[in-house]
Amino acid sequence: MKSRKILIVGAGFSGAVIGRKLAEQGHQIHIIDRRTHIAGNCYDARDEKTDVMVHTYGPHIFHTDNEQVWNFVNQYATMMPYVNRVKATVNGQVFSLPINLHTINQFFKKTCSPTEAKALIAEKGDSSITDPQSFEEQALRFVGKELYEAFFKGYTIKQWGMSPAQLPASILKRLPIRFNYDDNYFNHKFQGMPKDGYTKMVEGILDHPNISVALDTQFQMQDREGYDHVFYSGPLDAFYDFQYGRLGYRTLDFEKFTVEGDYQGCAVMNYCEQSVPYTRITEHKYFSPWEQHEGSVCYKEYSRACEENDIPYYPIRQVGEMALLEKYVDLAEKEHDITFIGRLGTYRYLDMDVTIAEALKTAETYLAGLEQENAMPVFTVSIR
Ligand SMILES: Cc1cc2nc3c(=O)[nH]c(=O)nc-3n(C[C@H](O)[C@H](O)[C@H](O)COP(=O)(O)OP(=O)(O)OC[C@H]3O[C@@H](n4cnc5c(N)ncnc54)[C@H](O)[C@@H]3O)c2cc1C
Repeated sequence: MKSRKILIVGAGFSGAVIGRKLAEQGHQIHIIDRRTHIAGNCYDARDEKTDVMVHTYGPHIFHTDNEQVWNFVNQYATMMPYVNRVKATVNGQVFSLPINLHTINQFFKKTCSPTEAKALIAEKGDSSITDPQSFEEQALRFVGKELYEAFFKGYTIKQWGMSPAQLPASILKRLPIRFNYDDNYFNHKFQGMPKDGYTKMVEGILDHPNISVALDTQFQMQDREGYDHVFYSGPLDAFYDFQYGRLGYRTLDFEKFTVEGDYQGCAVMNYCEQSVPYTRITEHKYFSPWEQHEGSVCYKEYSRACEENDIPYYPIRQVGEMALLEKYVDLAEKEHDITFIGRLGTYRYLDMDVTIAEALKTAETYLAGLEQENAMPVFTVSIR
């Protein structure tokens, strides 16, 4: 098969994985990223003062049920065992999350068995809400006023900048409670942290003779010339110069501080009360529990609306944003020889495992399209 010249915008997981898979089939890949580093938002680096591995754009824990993805990451990193356990400070007490039997017993000052706890929560839930329309109604129905106000209300307002009464019920799909003492935050079969970090993992993925990488390089429209295909993992609205306006995102501000010894004794402490301005404090040495460090690096995390010069983190995807997205998708669908990929290109929140799974599928679609002489789609997933 004739070797194709391919430009990839973005050296995060989306761009790196597609690049690798196509490079292995003999195609020539050039990847550009406007940042001065690879790995996108999963970038991590050692803190100069303490040597702790810090996740610059917020903590990242790898978890998946997808065996293909798990095998893929294990090719490029030694994955260390890690279980994400999150604590929450509420009304002067520390609780375990997600809400489990320990949380329930501590919160209601009881010693319930699983069966007793189920009955207690059923009694607390508001059974008059038969068809919950919002996150708030869903939570009131499932867990009742006390747990909702302690653990969900303030945190959600801080995280999303809006009342849970304005958010869809679908956010709280299942009963967000466990009636046992399992405090593993994730339910996935595989969970771990890369021993030498995500940046090193992405470096391994990019290490192929058919891949070249240019950092500190902003994509320009004329860059498309001379390439057979472009994979673009930048923001969809930015590609069109925000001509219809900006898709709404939440951004994060991180306030870093360093201490001697330990600060909070765990990786993640949520602050659920609205009166505390930050949503959580993360202590990054606890993300590498196999390492020993004298000092400790922590970040207070604040969430707010994303402005023009901020980093877009979480897509809002409310009714207004979806109408705007529709317009950009209509524009994009008229394009040829370009595919929009990843969390920014498709305006969706994606965990790393989903990002990698989609990137593997996108590469397969491209390769199959070349063989069968089918045009490569502009989107390989449904994003509306
Ligand atoms: C706070 C936070 C915490 C998270 N925690 C987890 C977690 O614990 N576990 C998990 O599985 N997932 C987590 N995620 C999700 C994870 O960050 C994403 O899955 C991943 O970053 C998606 O990779 P990507 O390549 O699609 O996008 P990105 O990592 O954003 O990469 C896109 C790249 O494109 C570059 N780019 C954009 N526009 C241009 C342009 N015009 N020119 C050149 N370059 C450009 C950017 O600089 C960036 O490097 C978290 C996300 C956030 C926001």
